[in-house]
Amino acid sequence: MRCGARAARGYHEAGSFFHETRSLNRSAPQCESPRLFRATVVNPLGPEDCRVHVDGGVRVRAGRIEAVGPIERVAQGLEAETLDGVIVPGFFDVHIHWVQHQVRGAFHADLLTWLTQHIWPAEMAYADPTRARSDAQTFFADLLRAGTVGGMAYSSVHPEALGAAFACARGRWRIGNAVMTEGAPAALIGAKPMALSVIADLAARYGAERFVVTPRFALNCSPDVLAGLGALARAGGYWIQTHLAESPAELAAVARRFPEALDYTDVYDRAGLLGPRTVLGHCIHLGAREWDCLAARGCGIAHCPSSNEALGSGRMDLAAVRARGIRYALASDVGAGPSVSLLHVMQCFLVQHRAAGERVSAIEALYRATLAGAELLGWSAESGNLAPGKRADFVLLPKLGGAFDAEGWLEHVMAGTPAELERRPLATWLGGSATG
Ligand SMILES: [Zn+2]
Repeated sequence: MRCGARAARGYHEAGSFFHETRSLNRSAPQCESPRLFRATVVNPLGPEDCRVHVDGGVRVRAGRIEAVGPIERVAQGLEAETLDGVIVPGFFDVHIHWVQHQVRGAFHADLLTWLTQHIWPAEMAYADPTRARSDAQTFFADLLRAGTVGGMAYSSVHPEALGAAFACARGRWRIGNAVMTEGAPAALIGAKPMALSVIADLAARYGAERFVVTPRFALNCSPDVLAGLGALARAGGYWIQTHLAESPAELAAVARRFPEALDYTDVYDRAGLLGPRTVLGHCIHLGAREWDCLAARGCGIAHCPSSNEALGSGRMDLAAVRARGIRYALASDVGAGPSVSLLHVMQCFLVQHRAAGERVSAIEALYRATLAGAELLGWSAESGNLAPGKRADFVLLPKLGGAFDAEGWLEHVMAGTPAELERRPLATWLGGSATG
């Protein structure tokens, strides 16, 4: 009785989608016996802090981690399921367009051309609920295959596509439909731009744990619409996601459209869109005033190095971020990013910043792809790394022979092409149950 009550409370607190709760209940009864997984364990604790158990164990009960550490400390006489690999926490992707999954990496152009010529036409297809449902199932299956267990995603403008994403989501996700009321084809905006009341209805239907207020970017919303979305988010405690300062041409267009604003960041700030629950994608072309503003508002950044490389957008100024203590986590930004693999994003993170002379480690890359993402989304008490009480969401990666060195192993495991890295994880567990 006590066990069942505890487990049931746990699932609700985790904000699991009903879809996932059903599958967990089917495969993992609430009063189940504990299971013990034995493998090397690499557990990120912070940007430069990582705990390694070469002969480690993760004990799981009712979807939660009960203990993690050296195998002899966590075994408690249980027979272990020995895994040939290295356990790490499941990845979090804090900026991904699920409706671009089918065309990820397919087009290369500067941002505004890429959007208008390729991406907006592709997103028009998600007016079809059957197509949306089918692609959403594929998307979440592919993410689990790549080791991603949660994050924050952009849907298309269509409420039906958003519903399909929520119905098919596996893992822990916040999702919002991109709000576009101007500056895009009529097929996306509609004969009459979507009213704020429609967004408010969607927000109320899905709730603040799942729905994220999503102005696509400044060029798709008037000052009034941006302000309305800011007010909606503040009133309901919703997270906010949008794009900021991705390309020089975008900056110039924003300056023309919003002559009253001090700069691009000020467009969002005067709309009340910046705060600790705001996650801003890219943040590449920012001035000192804007960096200071993001720090003062407590915003988080979705850092998308693979996307920035693919579109030639530039490099996020890591020194400026670090100097101000601004929170950031890694993200794929699929479909500009060519791969849903956070291993590939980690690889690009290291390559880009090292080429610019910044000190970055593979251990930091792992932290930015896991715990930092959960922290950015307010979920680190229950997700992001391996600790007693947290959800048993983890990934098995292949290991190397010889003495184990976490930094060297990580460098090796994130080497490869996007396609190779999407299939590198050997298995992914959600709530202690193997997926796939
Ligand atoms: Zn994006």
